[in-house]
Amino acid sequence: MKSAQVDGHEPKVKPAYFQEENHVLVDRQLEQLAPVGPTSMFHQKFDRIDESLGRYSRKVFVGGLPPDIDEEEITATFHRFGPLVVDWPHKAESKSYFPPKGYAFLLFQEEPSVQLLIDSCIQEDDRLYLCVSSPTIKDKLVQIRPWRISDADYVFDSSLPLDPRKTVFVGGVPRPLKAFELATIMDRLYGGVCYAGIDTDPELKYPKGAGRVAFSSQQSYIAAISARFVQLQHGDIEKRVEVKPYVLDDQMCDECQGVRCGGKFAPFFCANVTCLQYYCEQCWAAIHSRPGREFHKPLVKEGADRPRTVPFRWY
Ligand SMILES: [Zn+2]
Ligand SMILES: [Zn+2]
Repeated sequence: MKSAQVDGHEPKVKPAYFQEENHVLVDRQLEQLAPVGPTSMFHQKFDRIDESLGRYSRKVFVGGLPPDIDEEEITATFHRFGPLVVDWPHKAESKSYFPPKGYAFLLFQEEPSVQLLIDSCIQEDDRLYLCVSSPTIKDKLVQIRPWRISDADYVFDSSLPLDPRKTVFVGGVPRPLKAFELATIMDRLYGGVCYAGIDTDPELKYPKGAGRVAFSSQQSYIAAISARFVQLQHGDIEKRVEVKPYVLDDQMCDECQGVRCGGKFAPFFCANVTCLQYYCEQCWAAIHSRPGREFHKPLVKEGADRPRTVPFRWY
């Protein structure tokens, strides 16, 4: 599998958006898990991953934990695979000893620990399980969900150039969704997908809940951004996610090529299909004072790669 990057910018800020929604979905997915106890379906051993398939994030999701297991006990349970830290959303603020929603993240110090953990799991279809005990519940099957780093990029058609101006931002992507799956869904909806990427955090390479999709044609790109929302289906999860143009911060104004703004990069992008251009402040004002364009809203690139609209201040 080849990988590509549309944009080399690694966002530094961990975005908080959509996190809650994802957790609700994860919870819902966990409710669908098979009842506790090994059955004939659980006999298969997960094969050691072929090296060519790549490496794993040191961050691993564990779901369906016994409700009375605390941080210390989780750490003790998984410590046999290597040193780790246990985390869950808002852990620091909540000051709770128990993961409140029955899931947690294992942050291993070394990546080989993840492989050791996988080797110890039992597999059902694509899912991995491990027996975990708490003070009152013995041998509960919990779901282990590692993230393969290579699943963050997928090139659909490597003969096509990646055009950042035909790329969309997809927000609120369910965490288990792989780039290949995102590409497949968007291609089925709009056609002409040449690349999909899942945004990951730079340190742990773990999905952040957003993605990018590059199209080969302007029509597919416009169809996607005009829809604004897309229904993503992933296993038991069905989720409405937002689609926006991918906004870059290193583009010249398309109107004046930098002449009217001292050669600076254009701060605004107009996502209206009648514009679809980058503008400097002067050109934005000039173009959008024309009848019918007064209501266009400038999109700007945000720290975490998420485009947002800003009110335009008229001069
Ligand atoms: Zn300009
Ligand atoms: Zn416009």
